[in-house]
Amino acid sequence: MCNYVNHVRSCYLCASEETVLISEKSCSEARKTGRFGSCGKGVGNKPYRTQYRCWKCSARMDGHSYVQGGEVAWV
Ligand SMILES: [Zn+2]
Ligand SMILES: [Zn+2]
Repeated sequence: MCNYVNHVRSCYLCASEETVLISEKSCSEARKTGRFGSCGKGVGNKPYRTQYRCWKCSARMDGHSYVQGGEVAWV
């Protein structure tokens, strides 16, 4: 069964989520024909979560130590 993979960024402080990317992951059967979803078993949906701190929380927590364009270490 083939799957759409929803790449979701989830803020570990306020739990807000944001979809960054949706990619297609073919199963081994569909890969033989090279067409996504061609296995005939349907297409599922898989979330892929990464934790991050959203800009709102960054701004709120790190007013003075926020580093623009860089990762802010959580202490
Ligand atoms: Zn498949
Ligand atoms: Zn947040």
